[in-house]
Amino acid sequence: MSDITITMPDGRTWTPKFVKEINKEKCIGCGRCFKVCGRDVLQLVGIDDEGQYVAVGDDEDDDEYEKKVMTIANQMNCVGCEACSKICPKKCYTHEAMSE
Ligand code: SF4
Ligand code: SF4
Repeated sequence: MSDITITMPDGRTWTPKFVKEINKEKCIGCGRCFKVCGRDVLQLVGIDDEGQYVAVGDDEDDDEYEKKVMTIANQMNCVGCEACSKICPKKCYTHEAMSE
């Protein structure tokens, strides 16, 4: 099996690396990755004191959760551009190329 590589019109090649995992221990919920992803892949959620995901509302005083983390909501929308991991200050992302 080999990674799927795209050949550009100018002859350069590119191997898309699709989002696979976000490390919720490292994530600080800063939202930078969300801002650069144009594909509606990511979603910020809260984690409560039992480690369960809870929805994040508009209320800043919401005490339902311990901290906020980024999650992968629509993995199939990812185009493998890696913009999210390039901007992430905490190196939370794991990406994977698609094999043929
Ligand atoms: S690799 Fe690109 S499309 Fe995929 S989640 Fe990251 S920024 Fe979005
Ligand atoms: S940029 Fe990194 S630390 Fe910030 S929300 Fe995204 S995954 Fe978490």
